[in-house]
Amino acid sequence: MKPSVSRIGLHTSIAGGIHLAPERAARLGCNTMQIFSHNPRSWERKSLSREESALFRENSVRWGISPVFIHSSYLINLCSPERKVREKSLDLLMHEVELALDLGISEIILHPGRVGKGERKKGIELLSRGLDKLRSITTAPIIVLETTAGQRGDIGDEIRWLGEILDATGGEVIKGVCLDTCHLFASGYDIGQPDETERVFEEIERYVPGLPVSCIHLNDSKTPAGSRRDRHEEIGKGYIGDGGFRVFLSHPKAGGVPLILETPRSSDEDDRRNIARVRSIIA
Ligand code: MN
Ligand code: MN
Ligand code: ZN
Repeated sequence: MKPSVSRIGLHTSIAGGIHLAPERAARLGCNTMQIFSHNPRSWERKSLSREESALFRENSVRWGISPVFIHSSYLINLCSPERKVREKSLDLLMHEVELALDLGISEIILHPGRVGKGERKKGIELLSRGLDKLRSITTAPIIVLETTAGQRGDIGDEIRWLGEILDATGGEVIKGVCLDTCHLFASGYDIGQPDETERVFEEIERYVPGLPVSCIHLNDSKTPAGSRRDRHEEIGKGYIGDGGFRVFLSHPKAGGVPLILETPRSSDEDDRRNIARVRSIIA
């Protein structure tokens, strides 16, 4: 079967102001995009003016960029054994939810979090407690959980753990799942093999039934399947390769899901080349 993809985008810079991102994405050949709502490596919070968020909404429509995903800050860890970190994390995530609501964005991608050895169960409990608190600011589901590579205590490397998180929270704030191809591959789903891609979608059906795949992060991997390392590579240049992406994207359940690239870049040319490569894979 030929892949059916209609939305392709990139993680797009918000340099100069968030309202500039839609045009930037469109000029790079995107019709969807992911952004950070602020500097992802700082705890600092920055509020948006009413003009800025109105302009963002207007520009998203004008440049045909939809849907827009926010990738939450890398600092957020609702599973941390340190209470202080959990509190700061929740505070920042709440702030991101508020920004998303202002910007008219309805999906925030979140890494489930990081725990110490043997602390997975405890971590899931802490995470669900944190997520539940979001209900004080929104009643609509907004969190999209991303699968991880399982590096350094990251939870969410196997789809069944997303099921545990969903069960623990009752699911009210969880909107969907984000599958990152590099992370799936590194955590042991060798998605270049048709039966392994099948296993991914079967596990979604089994462990998080009813939860949609909201987004696919399309990244190649610098390290082999099962390496448990999160090292993104340009499309077609890593261990997944063009053929692997073709297998994965040909799965009927991958059909129609927006693709977001988080591939290494040092210039716009890199982004354009990666988008073009995806288009040739799915052609
Ligand atoms: Mn991510
Ligand atoms: Mn990702
Ligand atoms: Zn990654």
